[in-house]
Amino acid sequence: MAHEAFLGKTVHAGEDYGPESIFQAIGDLHADRIGHGTWLFDATKITSPRIKDRQRYVDDLSEFIADKRITIEVCLTSNQQTVPELADDLRRHPFGEMRRRRLSTTFCTDNRLVSHTTVSDEIARAVEAFGLTAREVKDILIYGFKRSFYPGATSRRGTTSARSSTTRTGSSRTPAGRSPYQRWKAGWPSFTATNTPGRWP
Ligand SMILES: [Zn+2]
Repeated sequence: MAHEAFLGKTVHAGEDYGPESIFQAIGDLHADRIGHGTWLFDATKITSPRIKDRQRYVDDLSEFIADKRITIEVCLTSNQQTVPELADDLRRHPFGEMRRRRLSTTFCTDNRLVSHTTVSDEIARAVEAFGLTAREVKDILIYGFKRSFYPGATSRRGTTSARSSTTRTGSSRTPAGRSPYQRWKAGWPSFTATNTPGRWP
C-alpha cells in the first residue's frame, strides 16, 4: 500500500534472521531504510540452498545496499539487550563493519521504552565504543536526515535553495484530499522553508 502510494518505507530486518531477510525487506517490501540490519554480514545465518557462495552473497548484498543508498538504522542498545555477545562488548557490533564498507548508517532507539534509551544515549554509546570523531557523528546524523522521509530533507547538496522552497510552497498549496503522496509532501512547508540547512557537508 505505502509503496503504491510512493511513500517512504522503513523495515526492520536482520535482527533475528540473517542477510536474506534484509534482501527480502528491500526486494519484496521496497524498504528505503532498514531497521537493525544487525546480521547483514553473518553468512552462517543464510539458509537458502540456492545460495551456494554465502560470503559472496553477503558481499554483493552489502554493495547493493551501499549502491542503492539504503540507510541502516543502527539500534545499539536494543541489540545489546537481545544479543549476549554485544552486551559485554559493543565493539563487536557490526556497526564498525558497516562503516568500513561505507554503508549509510544512522542511529535509532528501536524503541525508547522497552530499551530504556534515547537517541542521545545511542550516539554517546556509539562514540564511546567506536571512537567516532565529532565530524563523523555529524556526518552520520546529517545522512540520517537526508535519508529521512521528511519532504525537503532529501534534497541533494546545495539544492535547498529558493528554487526548491518555491516549489515546496507551490506544492503546499495543493488542495488537501489529493493523494497520500501529495499530502505527505505538502505537510511540512515550514520545515522546508525555514529549517532545512542550505548546504549539506
Ligand atoms: Zn526492531
